[in-house]
Amino acid sequence: MLALKTSGNGKLELVEESIPVLGMGQVLIQPVAVGICATDLEITHGTIDPAYVNYPITIGHEWSGVVVECGEGVKRINIGDRVVVQGIIPCEKCRECKGGHTNRCEVYDEYGFTRNGAASSAVCAQEHLVHVLTAKTSDESGALVEPAAVVTTGLLKANPSDNARILVIGDGTIGLLSAKLARAWKPSKVDLVGLRPEQGPLVAQADVDTFFLTSDVNDEKYDLVIEASGSKSGFEMSMTKMIRGGTLLVLGLIGHQETIPLAVDDLVNGDFTMYGSFGYTSKAWAKTVELLNSGELDLTFLVTHKFPLTQWELGVDALLNAPAPRGKVLLLP
Ligand SMILES: [Zn+2]
Ligand SMILES: [Zn+2]
Repeated sequence: MLALKTSGNGKLELVEESIPVLGMGQVLIQPVAVGICATDLEITHGTIDPAYVNYPITIGHEWSGVVVECGEGVKRINIGDRVVVQGIIPCEKCRECKGGHTNRCEVYDEYGFTRNGAASSAVCAQEHLVHVLTAKTSDESGALVEPAAVVTTGLLKANPSDNARILVIGDGTIGLLSAKLARAWKPSKVDLVGLRPEQGPLVAQADVDTFFLTSDVNDEKYDLVIEASGSKSGFEMSMTKMIRGGTLLVLGLIGHQETIPLAVDDLVNGDFTMYGSFGYTSKAWAKTVELLNSGELDLTFLVTHKFPLTQWELGVDALLNAPAPRGKVLLLP
């Protein structure tokens, strides 16, 4: 089978390797749609914290596929099922897992990081990590479950009340997913601030009420601000956009060991609550799949570029250079 691999030396290579052998209770899945993101490039260039990767590795942590073989003891999954697989594999024994914080499992293990990912012809997975998609969930939406579950995990923490006014900072994939997913909490409005007017069509499809460019932001304040731009300027703006008693949810990473000055008195006097959120919990993964499978959520609109896996170089080029509107870039194995 084919697999898109890297050793962290800045190079990706599509290589031939043997199909994984199915163990007890495992299913073999043929990936159908595989998203690529900036993290895949960090893995490729070896700039990610080495504690999180086992090289050489097949990339691909945002994906959906179809079951082609069921191992012994598999009960719930059938050949032909369209599925997604929870990427962070919780040990289910440690203190964090027992408390439901599977995103912080003490034994870190994740597809596309510590074990081979889905930019390949086949992946094998333990049955309990596999979620079946209904006809209401497209393959494209399935490939977006992973980044969407990151947003769901943050929203479950921030837990905005009914009729909350929400501002999303950032017009990239995580910003657009934040705006779209926030609707499940029944806010009175969701505004988004970004840098690229060309993202307008995607922002509109994410059900955003008002799309501001950074240069046109007014002095309106919000109950919940979601920082999804991963920039210093985005974080600085977020501190000025909360009402007193407001909440800040930080999803964007600004760079390893980068720091930002914080007006501590504003934090205290504003009575603010701040959340950081890492990865996704099993609960958030299940909730995201549920929203898609019920038809309440459809993320297909976010996919703007698709390439066959054999043309992965075009995919990487689109991820870096394609003009906006740019959403998710998919590779199709
Ligand atoms: Zn990603
Ligand atoms: Zn654990």
